[in-house]
Amino acid sequence: MWRIPKPETTALEAFDTCRAGITLPDLSQRLEDIRDDIGLAEEKFDAAAAAANLLQIATSEDVAGLVTAKEMEQLYTRHMARNKSRGRAIYDKLMIAAPHDQCPFCGHRNVSTLDHTLPKAQHPALAVTPICLIPCCKDCNHAKGNLVLASVEEQLLNAYYDDIENERWLYAEIVEGSPPGARFYVETPEEMDDVIASRIANHFGSLELAKLYASQAGRQLQNMKGALTDTYDAAGIAAVRQDLERRAASFAAISLNSWEGALLEAAASSAWYCNEGFRA
Ligand SMILES: [Zn+2]
Repeated sequence: MWRIPKPETTALEAFDTCRAGITLPDLSQRLEDIRDDIGLAEEKFDAAAAAANLLQIATSEDVAGLVTAKEMEQLYTRHMARNKSRGRAIYDKLMIAAPHDQCPFCGHRNVSTLDHTLPKAQHPALAVTPICLIPCCKDCNHAKGNLVLASVEEQLLNAYYDDIENERWLYAEIVEGSPPGARFYVETPEEMDDVIASRIANHFGSLELAKLYASQAGRQLQNMKGALTDTYDAAGIAAVRQDLERRAASFAAISLNSWEGALLEAAASSAWYCNEGFRA
């Protein structure tokens, strides 16, 4: 959901770095023989991802009939993901590209792994291709692993390719009660392309972001209780609303679709919340 600059390291740079760690002559030779296929697979992936149609990329059990998916998976796990391996510097560079160490899928939890946009078991030629590897949190990585991609509308948002930060689509409303809560939902602009609008809604649903944001929001609302009580007692309901609006605008200036900004905006527009609901 949040954008990260596309990696500059090419598939062949990563592939050559990783395979340099292979000492078995037979495997080493076979890996050299598939260099062109790795470069070609990267080109195809780049075009398909830019067109938001990853379904057009065929699955395969091997690369050019020479290197198995398992061997490519091991190239990734042993020579790129493993600590102190030759490719680890490339792995680390991809990991730290996420601003504030924040997972681009949920926009909230910390980055702790790399996600293969297309699974390496079915797309072995992309196993170590940087543009196919996105830093993310373990929960999103796990949730994504259980998804079966059946249509272009079901493709999750891609931090390297999808730019949806200029459109507002995340909203919240205050749930009256004690303690107060919030419900988050997606509402895409009417003029937005249908496929991207469906993908945003699907992304939000598949990764259960409403649940994640609601639990964070509950805590945030509690944390604001003391400050808002002071504001209300000193200057009344209008001052409370103004305070919340000011904070919401501050978040929106950084990101239009942060859960914090949506929450503050919802709180400001809730007459119940501003009129002592915050004390509940
Ligand atoms: Zn996440």
